[in-house]
Amino acid sequence: MHRAASLAEEVYEAIFARLMALKIAPGSRITVDNLVRELAVSQTPIREALGRLEGEGLVVKTHLVGYSAAPQITRRRFEELYELRLLLEPEAAHRAAQVMTEAALAELTEAAGVMHRSGGADERGRYSRFARQDAVFHDKIVAVAGNELIRETLAHQHTHFHIFRLMFHARVTEEALDEHEAILAAFAARDADAARRVMRTHIERSYARLLPAFDS
Ligand SMILES: [Zn+2]
Repeated sequence: MHRAASLAEEVYEAIFARLMALKIAPGSRITVDNLVRELAVSQTPIREALGRLEGEGLVVKTHLVGYSAAPQITRRRFEELYELRLLLEPEAAHRAAQVMTEAALAELTEAAGVMHRSGGADERGRYSRFARQDAVFHDKIVAVAGNELIRETLAHQHTHFHIFRLMFHARVTEEALDEHEAILAAFAARDADAARRVMRTHIERSYARLLPAFDS
């Protein structure tokens, strides 16, 4: 039972990493048989993983066609996502700083990923791990702020999975980690105004880093 659970998890992680690092290109077909060969496992954990990824908006299942990687978000959708984030996340950070506990701060510090900065040679593995960490970090901040509707609204966009697929770039990770540190520092100081400001800066810089992805 435990073995089966960990195999399912491993298969999920392997496909997730391929999607985030664009080894499976946005919009391209995903063939279960190919994954069976590549990962040397049966169809069952692969179908399970694809179902989970479908729920996360990374995979699309089409009748009679099968699975494909979700298409790249459009520039318009990207602009809308960042507008939504700028409306909600700086205020959530402001609120979170006001009600921050030591326990919540410790959880956020762990989630921020700043503890594991030098992640070894596997750049792409690191990149996909950071995509998830970033999603968890931002979600936890909104959770601390305490508005479940805002949390659901943001979670439903699967923002982090989409934006990290726009390009693969080590700079995206490094700079974002610096900005996460600034957010944590504001939380540690219980400085609500600073938290709002550095969150706004983080989102604005993230936007600027990823915008060139639409140039080509
Ligand atoms: Zn972030």
